[in-house]
Amino acid sequence: MASLYKISVSNLGGIGNKRAELFAKLGINSIGDLLNFYPRSYEDWNLVEKIENLEYGTTVCIRATLATSVNDARISGGRIISKAMVFDDTGSLQIVFFNNRYISSMLKSGTEYLFYGKVTADSYGAQMVAPTFSAVQDATAIYPVYKQAAGLPSKNIAKTVKQALAMLPNTIKDPFPQQVREIFDLCDLRTALQNIHFPKDHEALERARKRLIIEELVVLNLGMRYLQESNRGMSGVKINIDYSNDFERLLPFEMTDAQKRAVSDCIKDMKQKNAQMNRLVQGDVGSGKTAVAASVCYTVVKNGFQAAFMAPTEILARQHYETFCKLFENTDIKVGLLTGSLKESEKKKVRQKLADGEINLIIGTHALITDKTEFKNLGLAVTDEQHRFGVAQRSKLLGKGENPHLLVMSATPIPRTLGLIIFGDLDISVIDELPPSRKPVKTVWFRSNQRDRVYSFIRSEAANGRQAYIVCPLVEEGELDDIAAAEEYAAELMLREFADIPVGLVHGQMKSDEKEKVMQKFVSGDYSILVSTTVIEVGVDVPNASVIMIENAERFGLSQLHQLRGRVGRGQFQSYCILISDKSGQPTKERLEVMCSTNDGFKIADEDLRMRGPGDFFGERQHGLPQMAIADFADTKSLELSQKISDYILFTYKDIRNEELRALKGEIDRLFNRGGHNSLN
Ligand code: ADP
Ligand code: MG
Repeated sequence: MASLYKISVSNLGGIGNKRAELFAKLGINSIGDLLNFYPRSYEDWNLVEKIENLEYGTTVCIRATLATSVNDARISGGRIISKAMVFDDTGSLQIVFFNNRYISSMLKSGTEYLFYGKVTADSYGAQMVAPTFSAVQDATAIYPVYKQAAGLPSKNIAKTVKQALAMLPNTIKDPFPQQVREIFDLCDLRTALQNIHFPKDHEALERARKRLIIEELVVLNLGMRYLQESNRGMSGVKINIDYSNDFERLLPFEMTDAQKRAVSDCIKDMKQKNAQMNRLVQGDVGSGKTAVAASVCYTVVKNGFQAAFMAPTEILARQHYETFCKLFENTDIKVGLLTGSLKESEKKKVRQKLADGEINLIIGTHALITDKTEFKNLGLAVTDEQHRFGVAQRSKLLGKGENPHLLVMSATPIPRTLGLIIFGDLDISVIDELPPSRKPVKTVWFRSNQRDRVYSFIRSEAANGRQAYIVCPLVEEGELDDIAAAEEYAAELMLREFADIPVGLVHGQMKSDEKEKVMQKFVSGDYSILVSTTVIEVGVDVPNASVIMIENAERFGLSQLHQLRGRVGRGQFQSYCILISDKSGQPTKERLEVMCSTNDGFKIADEDLRMRGPGDFFGERQHGLPQMAIADFADTKSLELSQKISDYILFTYKDIRNEELRALKGEIDRLFNRGGHNSLN
């Protein structure tokens, strides 16, 4: 199949430059692309409805006979309207075509046809406008419906696909060896492609879908395993002494048992001879992951190595930097900060100190993984809110030393099957306990006409010395509009509602030193209220904040709402999350009610996955996985099966470079190249 990706679609009949451009708009350049362009849905001409049972607005197939010949008439603008009555044994209906001069010669009075189209009504009763039709004897099939582009209707795509299918060489190599197909009851590639586009029947379609979904997931699965394996090697970093008890003395609080367990898991990993730690610490928002990371960094630095801590946003990096500076104030550990917004000269200085080993612990953003950054002896790489970093970025950080240990932290509880794919053979520690004296956040849902009540509540909290976040409405059209809307919203509050209360505004388009200034003033309590776009979403820690009000709550995903809610309830104060939404449709209702009824991040993630699928779950495809053509990450059954098949393949064929797996490896390379990753060698 691999070679088909090298043949342009313009080799097919009827595809000139213009048409090829239209195909390119759909992402189709080669014959291979075309064969992988699966139908969006199907028209099932086997399911024939009786006319008396038709419902307006549905798209159906009827089997009916023309009662009259087609009647053409001219209407305004020189257009032609063609009409005919058709009937079956239960009733009759009018079919209508516009500007089709050939219709009257194609449809014959007294002949029976299949018509497929949407049922609408005009003053004369039921009608079908511009249905597709076919003579009865030709039509017992399921037709593909493709995503179309302007000038390239589904029908034309189908025709082209048919040609491409005919070009499939007989010798086409199936990514799944026959043995695998037999054991797991999967049809072969040719049959699958044939039937995903032009299914023989429903059963064949289902088998084709299953086979293609499984193949895509197995390709992903194996690709991820190899990517991870190539990252995982012998570590030259020897951690001999555990300093975690010393570290605990630096903390202003006692670690929870769950935190201690996570730390000791990490140290055990790192003490193992030659092996590299590869661990995910998963804990709900506010469970205290930072202290865990700090402890592990401390031990690594005390053993004579450098540690790097990568955060997804500038604000978060700076905040961690402050925390770590304070924590290590009276120790000999030198903490540094490296973010994109530093002046070039400052960055240079920090990089020099890293290369010299003058800085032991560096906190930073993506700036840490650019080629310019060199370490003297990196022993540990930590990434915070891991799901926001792509796989490729993670491996880049690891490439910075002699196989440093890896610790990744995430608040997003990832369903197990998906976690296995994203994190491969990562070991997992779960922090399943919140620090003591935390009170669960109370979540309520209000309508916008109750906003004044919410404002006065915020006012009373502020009067008691607490602070509040207000998350502005997200505007759907684009970022710039978001900013304008946020500014306007904040200005309104500052001028009217909270004229006597200090209010700050932070949004994504602000320069990071401005952002930093505002955040700092909120952290220090100079601002009582922080109006923001979702830039505060991850990680930010202000234990004195007790209210978060979220405008247009329906526009956020559940996991995102949970992250936002995690900004409060981080100290000893009773905290509140107030969702504002006027939407009352079923999905919104269901989602906001889930938020109001539970604080359990795992439960919320499951619901999110169930209701919306993983695209949203991770926030705009930030999980770093390549895009799937047919598989769905919410389909846990297929994920599990693909896991099993991947295991079987590796067990049976030992190595992906095995000759039997050549076609499969070709697919893996293709998928990962498309996702911006390097080919696996
Ligand atoms: P997250 O897991 O969301 O990253 P943080 O590490 O930011 O959470 O911790 C949230 C807050 O809880 C911080 O203010 C931190 O100082 C505090 N904290 C962490 N661990 C404990 C503990 N064991 N006891 C009391 N407070 C803690
Ligand atoms: Mg955190």
